[in-house]
Amino acid sequence: MATDPITDSIIALLSRRDPEVAEVIGLEAQRQATTIELIASENHVSGAVMHAMGTCLTNKYAEGYPGARYYGGCVHHDRVENIARDRAKSLFGASFANVQPHSGAQANQAVMQALMEPGDTFASLVLKDGGHLSHGMKLNFSGRFFKPVHYPLHYDKAHPDYERIDYDAARRVCLEARPKVVMCGYSAYPRTIDFQRFRAIADECGALLVADIAHIAGLVAGGAHPSPFPHAHVVTTTTHKTLRGPRGGLILTNDEELSKRIDRALFPGAQGGPLMHIIAAKAVAFGEALAPSFKTYAARVVENAKALSAALTQRGYRCTTGGTDNHLMLVDLRARHENLTGADAEAWLEAAGIICNKNGIPDDPRPPKVTSGIRLGTPAVTTRGFGTGEMARVAAWIDRVLAAGLAGQAAREAEAANVRREVASLCGEFPLPA
Ligand SMILES: *Cc1c(COP(=O)(O)O)cnc(C)c1O
Repeated sequence: MATDPITDSIIALLSRRDPEVAEVIGLEAQRQATTIELIASENHVSGAVMHAMGTCLTNKYAEGYPGARYYGGCVHHDRVENIARDRAKSLFGASFANVQPHSGAQANQAVMQALMEPGDTFASLVLKDGGHLSHGMKLNFSGRFFKPVHYPLHYDKAHPDYERIDYDAARRVCLEARPKVVMCGYSAYPRTIDFQRFRAIADECGALLVADIAHIAGLVAGGAHPSPFPHAHVVTTTTHKTLRGPRGGLILTNDEELSKRIDRALFPGAQGGPLMHIIAAKAVAFGEALAPSFKTYAARVVENAKALSAALTQRGYRCTTGGTDNHLMLVDLRARHENLTGADAEAWLEAAGIICNKNGIPDDPRPPKVTSGIRLGTPAVTTRGFGTGEMARVAAWIDRVLAAGLAGQAAREAEAANVRREVASLCGEFPLPA
């Protein structure tokens, strides 16, 4: 089957120079073209974004910032970084943008270093409740050099906000711990974040509010989730999830003094030379996100997530919080199959060409490598052009594969092969972006 045309043309050249690597890239291109990508943090970039990454901009050292570099020969790099900054600022309505973070985690590292001293306390949601490892996991810089306190979800089944953020408890945790920074924004949280409420909490305890919109940046840019501005003092994000750009990070603020501290904390504080080919690709992706069609994309991502969540609920699965407001859902498998684990579901679905990740659900009794849930997201399939009709088919396939999986190895393998063929055929109707 045809893969995406950009990778095809790159492979054509590469296979003459390095057939060994070309072969692997070719196989990965086939995998992406013929499987359904439901990992909530992934997407398919456009040919324009892919092209910008594969350019001579990778050859340049451009340490520093536009107009203040530590190397000669940066004239074009200044221009492209300024284009990326300007587009990021207009996309999110911010006055300052740093487009150099190599990743979302490094954006957070720089911001934490800018806003806190080692040993200072910050508040966040813990990883197992949907937070990110850069929000205080003990092996991560954020947990090693700073002191996280975690605010809870509602864990009481009878509460109308079951599995949603407990804002009143968050306020109490913050008033008690007096953190320097309050972090909001998550990796596995299916509901709208109330940035205004977090700002009120931060103000009351004398903290700065950092919104990490890594997952929802594309929805924010496309108007499908409320903006963290003007509430957040600082916004961090990745550029490669719903925002559909190259892998990387971005930091935004409206506070000039904070922006200077952040720029210094990123370079020379956390990174050396910026990835200028990636910054060019970020500029291209921001340009795409500024186009009116991106609004339609963001709205469809949410519409598809709601459709998938409804279709799975109809088949007896339980989505945490009862559904989704954004691009992702956490599916509690036990509601349908008491003994099914997230680890098995992930593996069985992959054999059938449906790619997702196991994920703990709030209060999950199973360990993180097993889990009782899977996380599903619609950014990548929406990019391909899937709509709500396809979401219903995906839900039916998921249910068939999981039911057969529990019926034993022979049934599992037979059904995986059947679904794999049907999946590949549907994917053939929805080619990857060019
Ligand atoms: C994905 C994610 C990040 C980090 O992104 P990387 O680019 O993988 O470092 C940070 N914060 C949140 C909430 C995320 O979901």
